Parts: sequence; C-alpha cells; structure tokens
Amino acid sequence: MPGSLPSSGRFWDKPIEALTRDEWEALCDGCGKCCLHKLEDEDTGDVHHTNVACRLLDLSTGRCSDYRHRKAMVPDCLRLTPRLVRDVPWLPATCAYRLRADGQPLPAWHYLECGDREEVRRAGHSVIGKAISEVLAGPLEEHIVPEDFASGVRR
Ligand code: SF4
Ligand code: SF4
Repeated sequence: MPGSLPSSGRFWDKPIEALTRDEWEALCDGCGKCCLHKLEDEDTGDVHHTNVACRLLDLSTGRCSDYRHRKAMVPDCLRLTPRLVRDVPWLPATCAYRLRADGQPLPAWHYLECGDREEVRRAGHSVIGKAISEVLAGPLEEHIVPEDFASGVRR
C-alpha cells in the first residue's frame, strides 16, 4: 500500500524489477481484494474466494489500518515482492502488481493514471461496501463468493 508518492514521472510504466521501494509501494491501487480470506480445498487444491476481510482491513477505506506493523499483528499477511508476485495465482486480475508483472498497463481508474484515489471505488473495484470483517463473519464457508465479485464495471 502506498506511502508518500514518488515524483519520478510515470514510474509505474517501468518494469517492476526497476522500481524503487517507494515506487513499488505506490503501485497498489488500494482495492483491498488481497486482504480477503481464501479457502483452499484440501482435496483439489482449488482456491475459493470469500468476502471476509482480515481484521486489520479498514472497511471504510479499503486500506490496512496498521500497515507498518501488520506482520506482527497478522503473521500470514502476504508481503508482495517483484519476485513473488508471479507466484501468487489468487491475486485479482485487476491487481496493479499482477498487471505490471504481466506487462499490462494500469487501468484508467487507477489513481496513478487518473489522480484520484477514490476512483477505484467508483469504478466498482474496491471491497468497500462488499466485505465483512472476520471479527463478525463466522465460518468462512458461509461467505464464499465468485472470484470476480468485486471486479467492477469499468476497466
Ligand atoms: S489486490 Fe493488489 S492492488 Fe489491490 S490492494 Fe492488494 S496489492 Fe493492492
Ligand atoms: S494485515 Fe493489513 S495488509 Fe495484511 S491482509 Fe490484513 S489488512 Fe491486508
């Protein structure tokens, strides 16, 4: 998730391996989809998506409420790296890291393209209003949703 925004032009067009740490962090669109729990079928290995959010996800902003200390609070929180991103098959198709790792451009609603961090929500790609906290949800099996349940209406 983004910290201060780097000022080096269209850095997001660079190969992900060439990004600075701040540029890498700034690539996140803030959709919150990667902070939803998944269930893996032990027999088939299939991954099922749910609308249940990690307890640290702020459901009003779609952002981690304690990003700096998240690994201490949620040990299995995924820390994406340029090397790792291609090995995480459940990242949403709209994830900025996945898109850039595949050499695809960022969508028009990404804040780096449009200059507005709220556009991810307006375009329907944020989990805001679509997710429930794990604190309240109960069994994950009761919250399985289609993979594209928050895939939005605009590319
Ligand atoms: S899915 Fe990708 S772009 Fe969306 S919040 Fe997670 S890391 Fe950021
Ligand atoms: S700790 Fe923060 S970044 Fe990690 S899954 Fe939870 S809300 Fe997302």
